[in-house]
Amino acid sequence: MSYSNEFRVKSGTKLNLAKIDPNYHGGFENEESVVDELTKYSQRLEELQAVMYAENKHALLVVLQAMDGGGKDGTIYHVMSAMNPQGCNVVSFKVPTTEELAHDFLWRIHKQIPRKGQITVFNRSHYEDVLVVRVHNLVPEDVWSKRYNEINAFEHALTNAGITIIKFFLHIDKDEQLRRFRDRLNDSGKQWKISESDYGEREYWDDYQQAYMDALSKCSFNYSPWYIIPANHKWFRNLAVSQILVETLEGLKMKYPEPSVDLEAIRKLYHAEVMETSGMEAVELMKAVENQEPKQSKKKSKKKKKK
Ligand code: AMP
Ligand code: MG
Repeated sequence: MSYSNEFRVKSGTKLNLAKIDPNYHGGFENEESVVDELTKYSQRLEELQAVMYAENKHALLVVLQAMDGGGKDGTIYHVMSAMNPQGCNVVSFKVPTTEELAHDFLWRIHKQIPRKGQITVFNRSHYEDVLVVRVHNLVPEDVWSKRYNEINAFEHALTNAGITIIKFFLHIDKDEQLRRFRDRLNDSGKQWKISESDYGEREYWDDYQQAYMDALSKCSFNYSPWYIIPANHKWFRNLAVSQILVETLEGLKMKYPEPSVDLEAIRKLYHAEVMETSGMEAVELMKAVENQEPKQSKKKSKKKKKK
């Protein structure tokens, strides 16, 4: 099953989030039944990121949006823990500062776009400027309503510059949000996330859903797709996000660059060095071992804790 096809928002289609089941979990029964698949995707993600970093040709921007409690932090934890910190980073967008508000809304975003070889995950993004800003009338309608086109032009320019963009909306329902608020209250490790606005914002649930439907349908294209991920089940959410990421990265057909040196010449230098330090016997032993080992480096993947 390819979740890319299943969950991709088709460009220009009218969306009805109420008709998309946030409890959906594919053909899987429960958390245990996805462990093997998840491990496979995590390992593949680790390999693909290593090639992306080495090749230094592509960049990946992952945008995460959700209602409060939708699971952005958990998704980031899951996805990023498969990666080498050297090649990736996370940027969280909060209420804009005075300095940020004194610029156009894309100013703070553009500064955080990944450079070649890097993966950046946005925890909230420029879409807040057509979501919270619209729901709370933080700017007049004639300002926010132009932003869909501005976002599309911006993202198009980024993809022309070699950046792959992929956007996930983690879709939960109102009951699940309340369950997660309860978990936050009862878990001392999560209490720090509680915000006074959480319950106030719930009152605007329908307005947010409407704003999401507009943003997702107006701003999803082949070059910069939105995916709606059924996210009431965290394990299914992680599975779907991982699979789509793997598929997207595989589509880039990346490969390790050719070595810039003459490997045979370097190998001779190395053997000479070993002989000088440890003698001929060590070189023979080493050659025998080299002949037995597979030539390709195999990285062991870390076994992850689930979140
Ligand atoms: P959190 O992600 O829970 O730390 O909260 C960040 C808060 O910043 C959320 O309430 C967002 O709605 C808010 N926020 C992010 N971007 C913007 C923006 N462009 N304008 C206004 N509020 C924003
Ligand atoms: Mg919050």
